[in-house]
Amino acid sequence: MIEARDLCHAYPDGATLRFGDVSVPQGGTLLLRGASGSGKSTWLALAAGLLTPQSGELVVAGQAVAALRAGERDRWRARCIGFLPQKLFLSEALSVADNLALVYFASGLGVDRAAIHGALEALDLGTLAGRKPSQLSGGQAQRVALARALLLRPRVLLVDEPTASLDDASCAAALALLQDGARTTGATLVIATHDARVVRALPDTMTLAFPAPVPEAATA
Ligand code: ADP
Ligand code: MG
Repeated sequence: MIEARDLCHAYPDGATLRFGDVSVPQGGTLLLRGASGSGKSTWLALAAGLLTPQSGELVVAGQAVAALRAGERDRWRARCIGFLPQKLFLSEALSVADNLALVYFASGLGVDRAAIHGALEALDLGTLAGRKPSQLSGGQAQRVALARALLLRPRVLLVDEPTASLDDASCAAALALLQDGARTTGATLVIATHDARVVRALPDTMTLAFPAPVPEAATA
């Protein structure tokens, strides 16, 4: 479940971004749609509690994000939010399986090797558990990051531009995996995209439109 009202973010010495209101039921899907620079990644960072809004209300997975103190916020994020960023942040120092194990350390939980194995198997990655991230194809690396994001069965799965570098067949497959993953875990799914293929593939999906940024000169 996600509720956002009058949400507004100001980067230091940057433009102020104002976002439309939205209410997504638990298990629903939301598309954040807009051109590059329109604020989609910023919205995801606000929803994950990685940034603090200048004003407005934001409730994610039943939690008013602003009410969390810094330490609580990290733990809440680790337990309740699955984040699939555009840059995957897989550690090259670790195997695929140990990249998933990091999730447990971040959450203060004991490592569950059986769950890691199950999460990798579910995305057809079982044979790659011992590899390093550089030994994966782009699509495999993205599936590893998805397995990691889903490992603790998050209430909300936030995904940033999942199809940007994918061909048409891989684009459809990636969207199907995201929807399957969200459905199996009961997560609310948020996909930020400027890819028209995603919008075509998910025609009846709730959408939050991000207006194109206004150039500085036009506002002067
Ligand atoms: P999108 O994901 O839709 O491409 P972003 O959320 O990344 O958009 O960026 C929205 C706007 O905020 C852009 O104008 C961008 O330059 C600006 N911005 C993003 N990150 C920062 C930052 N750390 N500091 C200042 N401005 C930023
Ligand atoms: Mg972005």
